[in-house]
Amino acid sequence: MLIRDIRAHHIRIPYDAGVASFKQGASAISALDIVMIEVTTDTGLTGWGDAFSYVCPRTSFAAINEMIAPQAKGQQVPDAEGIPAFMEQIQRNLHLFGRYGITMFAISALDIALWDLAARAKGVPLHKLLGAQKRPKIPAYASLMRIGNPDFVAKDCETALSLGYRAIKLHETTSPPVFAARKAIGDNIPLMVDMNCPMDGAAATAFAHECREATPLFLEEPIWPPEDFATLAEVRKAGGLGVAAGENACTAYQFRQMMDAGAVSHAQPSVTKVGGITEYLKVAALADERGVRLAPHSPYFGPGFLATLHLMSLRDDSGFIEVFYMKREASLWGGHVDVDSSGNVAVPDGPGLGIEPDRDVMERYRVA
Ligand SMILES: [Mg+2]
Repeated sequence: MLIRDIRAHHIRIPYDAGVASFKQGASAISALDIVMIEVTTDTGLTGWGDAFSYVCPRTSFAAINEMIAPQAKGQQVPDAEGIPAFMEQIQRNLHLFGRYGITMFAISALDIALWDLAARAKGVPLHKLLGAQKRPKIPAYASLMRIGNPDFVAKDCETALSLGYRAIKLHETTSPPVFAARKAIGDNIPLMVDMNCPMDGAAATAFAHECREATPLFLEEPIWPPEDFATLAEVRKAGGLGVAAGENACTAYQFRQMMDAGAVSHAQPSVTKVGGITEYLKVAALADERGVRLAPHSPYFGPGFLATLHLMSLRDDSGFIEVFYMKREASLWGGHVDVDSSGNVAVPDGPGLGIEPDRDVMERYRVA
């Protein structure tokens, strides 16, 4: 089976996130940009992948067409055993463009599509190709955007629970919203606090002490810069709370450095950023080896979200999948991977990623 063509699709789906102030932030995101990759073969099989693309959809789109497609077009489609070597060659060929960011987002997209194809070629769902499924449904956490106002945070937390969610993550950097959330959800609902890298080590440690009574499961990316693993390890030790990081780390090599430094209790590979399923699997193996929990980053709704569901279904831990808390105008998956009233998302069971993207939705919301 040969790779006949590689095509990028840029889809933009508007959303409503209520009072969340994300729209006014520097990145001004008011719609979900999804850059999908479609890999077609000479046998008629098609694989789908996903490149991280918030605020950078045109760049991810161009990277797929300019950097990835020429690497893969005309090549033999690798089977599951062959994908790691195939992708390593592409990583080697593209290393001079940087090992992080856009290059790796585009590499991730191809990798996901190749795994999708490998599973489809065998007629099995991706989770079955990768191992034994331990969970047919994954509990979701509501990943709230940055709100700021404690009353609004409390209200969104209550609404999220009423919709079925059984865990909450905030994107806040002051303690009043954290305590407001804890009060709103009670003592038994896991609460996480994502900070997006604002503080130095001393401030982050002080923030951890300030939040301790609200018992967050972890602080996510408390410090700047994200790759300062030594300082992150100090915050973890002196702050006395769990620390999560990894959505801005690429490849298993950087995760190894992070874990060697003792920087995290929870590793957060993002399948659309880390180098795809291949690198994610290496990170998961490393985490298991070191006793680090996995809390993947997945605030997106394209094929990368489906891939994350399959990957999480292989584990019998209690890990939650991240679901961006917002009303989307449309779904690529016909509602099949929406959060149900018990707060779970069903792992698709069709071949490959398990569901075909809705071509009508793609056409309606197509940018390029
Ligand atoms: Mg985050």
